[in-house]
Amino acid sequence: MLIRHSAFLGLLLTLLILLTGPAAYAQVPQLASELRPKEARVPGGVALIAIPQKSASPPYVHYQNKRVYVSPYQGQWWAWVGIPLDAKTGTHTLYWRTKEGDKGLEFNVQAKEYEKQYLQVKNKHVNPNTDQLARIRRETPEIRGAMDTWYPFQTPLPETWIQPTQGRISSSFGLQRFFNNQARRPHSGMDIAAPTGTPIVAALTGKVRAVGDYYFNGKTVILDHGQGFTTLYCHLSEIAPQVQVGVELQAGERLGKVGATGRVTGPHLHWTVTLNGARVDPALFLP
Ligand SMILES: [Zn+2]
Repeated sequence: MLIRHSAFLGLLLTLLILLTGPAAYAQVPQLASELRPKEARVPGGVALIAIPQKSASPPYVHYQNKRVYVSPYQGQWWAWVGIPLDAKTGTHTLYWRTKEGDKGLEFNVQAKEYEKQYLQVKNKHVNPNTDQLARIRRETPEIRGAMDTWYPFQTPLPETWIQPTQGRISSSFGLQRFFNNQARRPHSGMDIAAPTGTPIVAALTGKVRAVGDYYFNGKTVILDHGQGFTTLYCHLSEIAPQVQVGVELQAGERLGKVGATGRVTGPHLHWTVTLNGARVDPALFLP
């Protein structure tokens, strides 16, 4: 009954949009190109939800208490909802703020089975000592804070999504890893294997939010593309000298070189994409 009801509402909304036509949305500025990620309503995926608000200013949309990225597309505002890897399957609600209060927009999250992998690694990285633990405790909130920021700007999207380095995808997003048979958190990004020194570029225009050399991630750059959309590049052998906090990098601009710094078994780029604090599959952002 509920499903039938929301389907009917959806049909009504579609009819309303068709009847009022794109002219009603003419004031909506094209903040970006029409480029969007591929949609996957699964844990670790992205839901693209149309927001029924006719305004030039972006709507206020939130999900699991985090503000959500919005982008104009075909005369309408669309929310790019990052679905966390630990999300439960079933009905989820996105909230859209109106004068009358928050309105819920329901969508369904389906199950996805990610692969499992067993690795043998050096012991010092499996069980860090006291000093290393202190370092990890200091660094973790710094990295999370930089990835989970929300600033009210949106950087232009590239003509096409740019893969940050050339190489073989050696480990996909969501992979459940076991280090020396100890279960680890699922893989939060995509690994691209390439020889040390292979250039890495910004996947899209963004402001440098963090630069560091961390215990797990090694040499790392975090770019902020606005509205909680961030990308992280780590295990770098070298970070380009112009990459300083606050500097804007253009899509395709060099940011560093592939390396094997931090906890790794060989040189590769680990690339993470975040929307509204959720790590999502970078493959959805590639051609
Ligand atoms: Zn990785």
